[in-house]
Amino acid sequence: MLKERDAYVQKALDMGVSIFSGEAEGRLGQVLIDATNDKLKPIYNYLDDLPDIDNVAMPLLPAERVRLTAGSTTSFDAGRGCPFTCSFCTIINVQGQKSRQRSVESIEHIIRANVEQGLSSFFISDDNFARNKNWECILDKFIELREVHKLKISFTIQVDTLCHNLPGFIEKSKRAGVKRAFIGLENINPESLVGASKRQNKITDYREMLLAWKKVGVITCCGYILGFPNDTQESILRDIEIIKKELPVDLLEFFFLTPFPGSEDHQKLHTAGIAMDEDLNQYDANHAVTAHPKMSKENWEETSLKAWESFYTYEHAETIVKRAMATGTSPGKIMALITWFKGCVHIEKVHPLEGGFFRRKSRKDRRPTLPIESPFVFYPKYFAEIIWKHFCWVLLFIRLRLIYKRIRNDPKSREYMDLAIEPLNDNETETRELFQSEAARKFVEKRLRFKKMRNNVTSVT
Ligand code: SF4
Repeated sequence: MLKERDAYVQKALDMGVSIFSGEAEGRLGQVLIDATNDKLKPIYNYLDDLPDIDNVAMPLLPAERVRLTAGSTTSFDAGRGCPFTCSFCTIINVQGQKSRQRSVESIEHIIRANVEQGLSSFFISDDNFARNKNWECILDKFIELREVHKLKISFTIQVDTLCHNLPGFIEKSKRAGVKRAFIGLENINPESLVGASKRQNKITDYREMLLAWKKVGVITCCGYILGFPNDTQESILRDIEIIKKELPVDLLEFFFLTPFPGSEDHQKLHTAGIAMDEDLNQYDANHAVTAHPKMSKENWEETSLKAWESFYTYEHAETIVKRAMATGTSPGKIMALITWFKGCVHIEKVHPLEGGFFRRKSRKDRRPTLPIESPFVFYPKYFAEIIWKHFCWVLLFIRLRLIYKRIRNDPKSREYMDLAIEPLNDNETETRELFQSEAARKFVEKRLRFKKMRNNVTSVT
């Protein structure tokens, strides 16, 4: 993405590290041969030569490795590439904008091979499965494997906010065994979405899309980005309250707007000479790594913590589970996920994507800049930390479990209704808070004008 070589890539090269960029299929063999012969080239660059993945071998993760993760979920990609142009995304510059797919046969093969080793839960790692041109044939195959061959397989997929417009996509996903859909909601401010070239996200469609997933009982986990140029702590917390009240999102996952190397955002900041953190270890989900026009780094990071706190209150956890009971969306699983999310952020102090239930620490595994601690300091501290964290986890579990039991035992819980899950109506854009900001009103007016124009064209033709 950059005209000149990235300074840190150059630093790695100077240290004698070989760099491979692009996709490995059909090339990795040569790299391994070169490594064995101690003849590694400094650079292997295949970025402009994306391989056809139709029938290439798919990696099979051994069950003993996969079982180290909660839920024993293994993963594969059914395709690569995305036609959209979100400025914070690296996928389009690494995997391209053209959809490339694996054959249905090779996907069936990887599923059967995993089932044989006792694994039946799959994460399909396509960043946007809804834009996989083969989605329908793939889902039909999963349906056949489940309904005809009786394989008890289930899936988590990642999709965009327009997926409900693909005829049959959500219904087939349900029959195919999709239990969880990760959706890039990103923001409810249309100006921020346009600023990030995420024009495909239309806030007027959000509730329709989320209700469509609710209707089939699939859990939705939505990504939400903090730190668009107009964001302030106040605006972010206000928007989260609106989401809690008006959108039927099961889980909301917060991320810092991060200029990942390989994204358009990184390219723009680099060209403008705006500082970005030099330590690539910080480009995770827990740190702000560049300047924000309205928030200091401390304020931005504090806002992120407050965002998690404000979405995952005990009161809102209760509302989410009530909605799940009323719509038939696995309330027990949702509560388990809320426990995980809340515990990771508040007890482990890491993003749920990086968290787990037990933190293994090794005394000697430290960054080169940090001193190795004495065993007399390290082990008592580690032991106390384990006891304290597990005490907090147990308390959290009990408290949320009591809420869950109370809702489950309430005969009226299936009749629960609120603004988020009530059926769609025609005057939402006038009555909902979601559409009352200046930017949202402008967006709604534009959508109405566009709709009118389209109707006029249709009636003329
Ligand atoms: S829709 Fe998702 S995968 Fe596609 S460009 Fe945007 S962020 Fe990347």
